[in-house]
Amino acid sequence: MEFARSSENSAYAVPMNQDRKQPRTLQSLVSGQSQYFAAQSGVMADASAIKGRGATFNPGSRFDSLERSHFDDGWEQSAEEVSAPQTVVHPDRSRSILSEHDSPDLGHGRTLNPYRGCEHGCIYCYARPTHNHFGLSSGLDFETRLFAKHEAAELLRSALAKSSYKPKTILIGGVTDPYQPIERELCITRSVLEVLCETRHPFTVITKSAALVRDLDLFSVAGRNGTGTGAAAISITTLDPVLARKLEPRAHHPEKRLAAVRALSQAGVPTTVMMAPIIPGLNDHEIEPLLKAAAEAGAHSAGYTLLRLPWDLKELFESWLATHFPERKERVLSLIRQTRNGKLYEHSWEWRRRGRGPIAELIGERFALGKRRFGLETTRRNLRTDLFVPPTQDKDQLRLFASDSLDGSLGSSVRHSQGVNEETHTDKNTKTIKAAHRNAPKDTSNETWMGIAEGEKSKFLKGT
Ligand code: SF4
Repeated sequence: MEFARSSENSAYAVPMNQDRKQPRTLQSLVSGQSQYFAAQSGVMADASAIKGRGATFNPGSRFDSLERSHFDDGWEQSAEEVSAPQTVVHPDRSRSILSEHDSPDLGHGRTLNPYRGCEHGCIYCYARPTHNHFGLSSGLDFETRLFAKHEAAELLRSALAKSSYKPKTILIGGVTDPYQPIERELCITRSVLEVLCETRHPFTVITKSAALVRDLDLFSVAGRNGTGTGAAAISITTLDPVLARKLEPRAHHPEKRLAAVRALSQAGVPTTVMMAPIIPGLNDHEIEPLLKAAAEAGAHSAGYTLLRLPWDLKELFESWLATHFPERKERVLSLIRQTRNGKLYEHSWEWRRRGRGPIAELIGERFALGKRRFGLETTRRNLRTDLFVPPTQDKDQLRLFASDSLDGSLGSSVRHSQGVNEETHTDKNTKTIKAAHRNAPKDTSNETWMGIAEGEKSKFLKGT
């Protein structure tokens, strides 16, 4: 048996069961660099936190034909010696943009994810193992090696234009966050929302970012009362900024997310606050204060999921606990096992979202009681599908729509784009869209924005 040694550190590569499935697409593009990262960060498995990152290392992919085990050969590098990995964005050349799912716990749905991987870097993120499909790790790779679907708006437009297309609410960001920091530059989510607003197609956006208020013009058009084609869900895991920084290192401060809830609800957009996930022993004591804060910010409803640790997320989460909460580690793991029938995770549809056992039931009861106590809705609002109009490629019709529709609010967005470049809606180069935003006339009618003085708005938006 042959052993290959990494040149970066003391990690060894050991051949594994060759029957395992191999990574599919994109492997050739990234596998070499992934192996570098995997090897490089193996030294960090037991090390201290990496500034601005959730994971402390890169576990191997479950599809890898090689497994790395780590030991000290006397040439170890400290965490400080190994520079923190930088974020790299690759183009994702997927040829379709909508996915259908039909899971017993979620029901039938349609999703759209503008990005793969997520720089927010939440340690508990159950989407992490999806990176294994591209030959990448669920650890640091997931939060540093991102893929952007630059052609998302064009692909969506083509899908909606098919004669067989039947509208159904599209969940944007069901896997990875559509408002992660790179959206600030790329504006792909915004270009998708523009198509959905133009066609009056129902959508819900879920995010841990307050940056969706940049697109408040589109949300308020789609979500306003009487139109009812848009909604938002903002995930707030904790009100404690110190815990939030450790759990979700690059997501917005909880106060900023609450401010975004306030802005959306003031604009008439149905907004749900998701406490996702609840981690027994870590944030479950915040259920009531968080629901109270959500209600005060104007959320119409709230939901939660229990921590899920599929695949190598268990390993990552345990390492994170050892790094940030060593004294609480065993207690938290024990409570998680009590909600998962003695294991750290159960894949079964029946239990995966809410867990089972007395602790899981108590969490469910407290959450339901809290919702009633703070006046949050308990039934789901349905968005309208009957307003859908298939997209047009005709610029004149688009202009008509812009001037005639929806108070002109969307119209202003479309007109700004057209003022810069007629091709904005289908332009692959998002710089055009950025230029459109830059040239948009400033609204000086409000002295404050989300309760923040106008001069402070850019600072707010810049925050991480
Ligand atoms: S924001 Fe969502 S997708 Fe991004 S890391 Fe956190 S949980 Fe995962």
